[in-house]
Parts: sequence; structure tokens; C-alpha cells
Amino acid sequence: MNFYNSMNRSKERVEPIDGRCFRLYTCGPTVYNFAHIGNFRAYIFEDILRRVIKFNGYEIIQVMNLTDVDDKTIKGAIAKGVSLKEFTAEFIEAFFADLKKLNIESAEFYPAATDHIPEMIDLIQKLFDNGLAYKSEDGSVYFSVGKLSTYGKLAHLDRDKLRAGARVSQDEYEKESYGDFALWKGWDANDGDVVWDSPWGRGRPGWHLECSAMAMKYLGESFDMHTGGIDNMFPHHENEIAQAEGATGKPFVKTWMHCAHLQVNGEKMSKSLGNFFTLRDLIDKGWSGREIRYVLISGHYRQPLNFTFAALDAARVSLARIDECVDALTNYAQGADAGVMPTWATADADNFKAAVNDDLNIPGAMAALFNLVRQSNSAVNSGELEVAEAAALLELLKNFDQVLGVIWFERRLTEDIPAEIQRLIDARATARAEKNWSESDRLRDELIALGWSVRDSKDGQKVKRA
Ligand SMILES: [Zn+2]
Repeated sequence: MNFYNSMNRSKERVEPIDGRCFRLYTCGPTVYNFAHIGNFRAYIFEDILRRVIKFNGYEIIQVMNLTDVDDKTIKGAIAKGVSLKEFTAEFIEAFFADLKKLNIESAEFYPAATDHIPEMIDLIQKLFDNGLAYKSEDGSVYFSVGKLSTYGKLAHLDRDKLRAGARVSQDEYEKESYGDFALWKGWDANDGDVVWDSPWGRGRPGWHLECSAMAMKYLGESFDMHTGGIDNMFPHHENEIAQAEGATGKPFVKTWMHCAHLQVNGEKMSKSLGNFFTLRDLIDKGWSGREIRYVLISGHYRQPLNFTFAALDAARVSLARIDECVDALTNYAQGADAGVMPTWATADADNFKAAVNDDLNIPGAMAALFNLVRQSNSAVNSGELEVAEAAALLELLKNFDQVLGVIWFERRLTEDIPAEIQRLIDARATARAEKNWSESDRLRDELIALGWSVRDSKDGQKVKRA
């Protein structure tokens, strides 16, 4: 596997540090709202990375943090008049439900920041011991970037621009205005009752600190990979490196990977432009998690991705082609054991693996997949295929799907039903319970007109896309 390392600005061959298991840290959501599809682009890129590592026979330990204390979560909880824990619980639950809809594999650990305050305090103490932290007159603790000669190595900062004594207390800021950043924020009235004791007074941890502390707790002081969206590279990841390496004196992470932005209809996603979508918004518009996943994996992760409804339409057509091929091979194979793959398929298998191992080149892997689909279809149509060969092709497709996660081998009948369709199904169930057969038939016709088929069984209605 060769991946682009943002630290060295080049593609590098990767091996796990311990020879067996990749340890991966992925920055997770701030749970103050439903995640939007720009967020999911990053989580899907990380899912593909995880799957490619496993595809190559390695083990993986992935950690994704949940930021459940920061300016935005505190503001939201106060506005709603509930505790921070109560406020974030709803969005944590929604986040996991959304991951499932997009067929994103679960990480091994999802640590929440508020459960790791002691680890964060310990880390600040080490930075004090090493002369890299100081307390300011506002009750906060800052990291002294001028004292760490390697500060700026990931984002390639111009250290001449560092202004002596400059401090930034907010979590996000520009490269041009960099300075000492907050490790611990002294309590102020905006924080309400969200507060912890520390050796430096009451307050709460800075955002950057949580990732360094939790990454080292679960993955060790030096580990294999750390990823995130390109927006996270500075200041967040730069500060993570400073905190970890400043405390331990050891290299924090071997390979840094970042995915590019997502645009919607060619523009930056924003509420004012009307192109801001959560996953729920798109599912309510009638798209499935599978179709959305297909669009989000289809571009190369280091290229900006333009998300459009036309792309979702195209995804529906492409997935239908894959489904037809799987159905045809399944019928042809008739449950036979897999034999040897036809020789014409080996190039597709090789090309698929070479593509995913070349910096997660999913467009290249998709080209190999569709070449296989085209050749399989013609072999099935001409009848020039042994049943055991058809079964072997199905196995190969299952192998590809370990990485892609979009091919259905047994149609999932109840997943990804849009809310509008679910309302009709529920109304029809009520009509049937009331023995109102004409209403039941009318609702069935409505579902059919919307592209869904309905079959009544003793377990209730079975509904699927027609
Ligand atoms: Zn992070």
C-alpha cells in the first residue's frame, strides 16, 4: 500500500509499526447538530482507508473521538435549557444511526472528551514540566509555540510570522494569525455550569488537547496513522503534534492523510445558498444511503468532490447495472461452489487491488469493477461460463465489496426507506388493520407510482424499490 503522507508531501509505502496491526486515529464529530454530507465525505474516506487496510490482510485499531464539550455544544445546551450530556446524547445517537445508513464500519473506540478530563489534565502537566505551557492572567493555560522548534512542520508555517506574545483563545483560526493556543480555558460566564477543577483553576479543556490525550491513551505515544478533513490540518493537527511531541519527545504519528473539500452544485455548502444538506435531508428527498455512499466514494479523496443531484441519479443507474449483474450471476451459479475464476477476470482483480493500494484510487477500482460487470454480462448472455466460474465471479465481487461497501448480494428489503414512503406504508398498515381495503389498494397504487413494490405476507407488508 502506498499512501500520500501530508507531512512529507509525497506518496509512501506503508507498513504497520508492529508489523501486524495499523493503529489509526480519526477526528470525529462535534456533537451539537446532525452531521452534514461534507462531514460524511471525511468519514467515508476513513472507512475506505480502514477497509483497504483489512483487504490487505492487516488488522486495524481505529479510534474516533466525539467532541462533546466546546463552544458550540455549550451554547446549544444553554439555549435548549438542558444539561450538556442531555444535549449531546441526541446527536451522538443520530451520528451512529447515520454511519449505519452509509454502511460505514464501526471504529474500535469512540471516546467522548468529557470522559477523559483526567488524561487531558495529565498531558497539560507534562507540558508544564517540559516548559512548554504557561498560565495567563485570564485563568487559561496556553501552549508556548515559540519554545517548540518543530512547531509548524505539518502545515509548513513560516515561523518568521510568529509574533511574540500573540495568543489565540478560539479553537479555529488562520495560519496568518497563529500564536500560542489554549490548552485549558479558564471558566467564564458563557460556560454556564460546564466546568471542571484543575491544578490551574476551574475551566475546561481546549479542543486540540482532547485528540492528543485520547489518541495516546488508546493508541500509544507513537502510532501509524492520523486522518481528517483538510480543514483540520491547521491549526488542529499541528497543535495535536505539538502537544503530543512536546510532552513525550517521541514522534506522534507516522502517516498523516487528509481528504479534500466537498462542494454542492459547484459551490461551498452553506445554509444561505440553500445547498446545505444533512444525510437526513437527502434520505427524506428519496435517496438511499447506498446511493449517497456511492457518490461520496466515487471521487479521489484528495480531489475536491462536487456533490450534485445529477451524480445521485447517475449513482442509481450504476448501482442498478451492478445489481443486474449480481442477479444474473446468482441465477447462473445456482448455489454452486466457487471454482477457478475465468482467466479474463484476473486482470480486473489485479487492477482493482493495484488501484486501491495506490493511494486509495477508487475511480480506478470502479473502472476495474465495471469492466468485470461488462465481461460477466457478455459471458452470461453467451452461455460460455461454467456454473463454478459464475460462483467464482460472485466471490470476486464480494471481495471488491469488502472495500466498496455498495454491492448488495441479498437485497436488503427494509433499509433506506425514505420518510415519505414510510408514511404511506404506515398509513396502509392502519387501513388494513381497519379492513379498509379500498384505502389499502389506493395506497398500494400510490407506492407503485413512486417506484416501490408491495407484497403482503403473514409478517406484514414487504416493500422494496421496484
Ligand atoms: Zn482531532
